[in-house]
Amino acid sequence: MTSIVIIGAGHAGFNLAHLLRQSGFSGRVVLIGDEGGAPYQRPPLSKAYLMGKVDAEGLTFRPDSFFDEQNIERIDGTATSIDRQAQRVHVEGQQPIAYDMLVLATGARRRELPVEGGTLDGVHGLATRADADRLKQALAGEKHQPLVIGAGFIGLEFAAGARHFGLNVKVIDLAPRIMARAVSPAMSAYFQEAHEQSGVQFLLETGIAHLEGKDGHVTHVVTTHGDRLESDLVVAGIGVIPNDQLARDAGLAVENGIVVDEHLATADPNIFAIGDCANFPDKALASRLRLESVQNATDQARALAAFITSKQRIAYDAVPWFWSDQGSLKLQIAGLSIGSDTFVEQRDDKGLLVFAFRGGQLAAVETANHAGNHMAARKLFGSPLARPSADEIASPGFTLKDYVL
Ligand code: FAD
Repeated sequence: MTSIVIIGAGHAGFNLAHLLRQSGFSGRVVLIGDEGGAPYQRPPLSKAYLMGKVDAEGLTFRPDSFFDEQNIERIDGTATSIDRQAQRVHVEGQQPIAYDMLVLATGARRRELPVEGGTLDGVHGLATRADADRLKQALAGEKHQPLVIGAGFIGLEFAAGARHFGLNVKVIDLAPRIMARAVSPAMSAYFQEAHEQSGVQFLLETGIAHLEGKDGHVTHVVTTHGDRLESDLVVAGIGVIPNDQLARDAGLAVENGIVVDEHLATADPNIFAIGDCANFPDKALASRLRLESVQNATDQARALAAFITSKQRIAYDAVPWFWSDQGSLKLQIAGLSIGSDTFVEQRDDKGLLVFAFRGGQLAAVETANHAGNHMAARKLFGSPLARPSADEIASPGFTLKDYVL
């Protein structure tokens, strides 16, 4: 009986196990997770869960009974090493687990604040349910003055949540604009204005010199401009690091994640990597890519399940898309805006659309509160339909939805 062992029970790992069974795979499926409890969804941690609109049970993909019903063996523990010769995985405190096929779905961990005072009490990260629980508990206490370090998606979602609780929140970032690595200048400006209108304060082009504390608890954040900002609750959202150590120790290639080919396979034909931890070749960009999104984790799980169950060697080529909910704004991105050089904007009462071009070709569509146009963009990128030019989009009366229909 073929045995598939999956390390990491997050979005990629859970979906792979589930999709294998859905596709009729009858071999052994082992899902190793180190967070305890049933696998859960991460995006609500900085949104509905933080605001108390969803409880821990509502976060889980499926109840415990599902895994028994589907004959998915869940192992709670940390995988510590891979013996490629013997095809076994070692898990802390457990017997080695034999595999025919091993899938690394180990995700990414949050980057710690690399400054003095970065580990004081009251300094939080937000990557796991345990992090969110600590943060919720802290927020439930007396009135705080939260300070967010990093104006990326998670920092901004938290800031919107803090405003929801009526807290005065400041967001600091080294970059001159928010979400600078991920969206166009126009979209950054649109979101910054909305956050400011709701009361969020931004300190951009500002670094952190160090944090100060009293009795082990953070009291102030000192910026590189010399400002000493009072805060008893600091949230650091300064990015993540792929969990690729297991692969590295096993002698597999690692470069900003676990290096895989277009079939998500490592150089070892029995070992694959999917999700946030995988660095894969992207056809459109003609370079390697590592994405941190639910779409990427889920679509790679789907592609690998199809390969395992049908043995069809179809190169992974899904349309990337992403969303982030920040207060009353929903940001959605279809395609990849990396390296974009030209932008065309469409603005209306509902929100904003930004069409991003790379080398004259439409590469991504960013939308704020335009779900219909986001879906149209995904449809366009997934179809053989010719992509509209910048001139066509800028012409009066152009709508993406009409173009795609
Ligand atoms: P993960 O879901 O991180 O799962 C990896 C699992 O592997 C973890 O449980 C980890 O503990 C475990 N693991 C690692 N090493 C080992 C080991 N040695 N042994 C056993 N287990 C191990 N994406 C979006 O598209 N939209 C959003 O709005 C969005 N919001 C987010 C909000 C937050 C707060 C966070 C943290 C992420 C958000 N993301 C969002 C990103 C998205 O959640 C990730 O891209 C997705 O979870 C990646 O799935 P994954 O399975 O690769 O990794």
